[in-house]
Amino acid sequence: MKIGIVGCAGRMGRMLVQTVVVTDGAEFGGGSETASSPMIGQDCGELAGLMPSGQMVTDDARSLFERVDVVIDFTIPSATADHARLAAETGTALIIGTTGLDATQQALIEAAAARVPVVQAPNFSLGVNLLMALTEKVAATLNADFDIEILEMHHRHKVDAPSGTALGLGQAAAKGRGVALDQVAQKVRDGHTGPRKKGDIGFATLRGGDVVGDHTAMFVSEGESVLLTHQARSRAVFARGAVHAALWTKGQPAGLYSMRDVLGL
Ligand code: NAD
Repeated sequence: MKIGIVGCAGRMGRMLVQTVVVTDGAEFGGGSETASSPMIGQDCGELAGLMPSGQMVTDDARSLFERVDVVIDFTIPSATADHARLAAETGTALIIGTTGLDATQQALIEAAAARVPVVQAPNFSLGVNLLMALTEKVAATLNADFDIEILEMHHRHKVDAPSGTALGLGQAAAKGRGVALDQVAQKVRDGHTGPRKKGDIGFATLRGGDVVGDHTAMFVSEGESVLLTHQARSRAVFARGAVHAALWTKGQPAGLYSMRDVLGL
């Protein structure tokens, strides 16, 4: 499978290039960056700290989509929306790791998924996807005497909050409880909030240093707590999951898939 990496000079982009070149069955098909990037024209391999790949960073995303089988996108929401359109127009499978998409951008992803296979996940690590499955199961098992809180911490550069993974855990907990997350989510608490509402799913966000991504789903009653925690120590876990998802799209019909579909969880 020939794999293209959009946003190849980003933190995840470089890690993805490193991962593609060492993965059996994967061939690096080139990388793109935003037109204003000083990295345009540089060798994608060298940018990722590897030997020269002979593939120069391009700002022509369309030509990249045309020459690869699947594109992996860990960029910014507006770029991801453009890339979804390109995936549909060129018939190229798309793997989306970008988080923080608004409803209009998400609708473009869904439109693309009617034409090509799209795997979208707020977190591509095996461990977090297991955590999501466990969170859904625990939420379905424990009654509403257990308050659900989702705690996350990320590095100081992260721009969206709560993290896409925290929201994904909230979705999993809400699904387990048979409720809609947007009816019960408490994403911010500040000032005189009054007592906690029974059935709410709360979120708390911490930011600092170089933390790759910590998430805990907490189930807290009067007298006992169940805490499910995942800690990512390297971005490599996300890159390995995304490349695995890219290879998995081969032969899949069009549709919007999650990492839980890819892993069969
Ligand atoms: P980053 O800022 O280091 O990288 C983003 C890159 O995208 C930059 O190099 C930027 O120039 C590039 N970009 C912006 N517009 C572009 C365009 N139009 N075309 C091509 N490239 C463009 O950020 P990062 O830490 O690598 O994270 C990127 C995204 O991935 C964020 O939304 C983050 O939350 C998400 N993320 C998801 C997972 C997951 O497992 N799903 C894991 C880590 C990060």
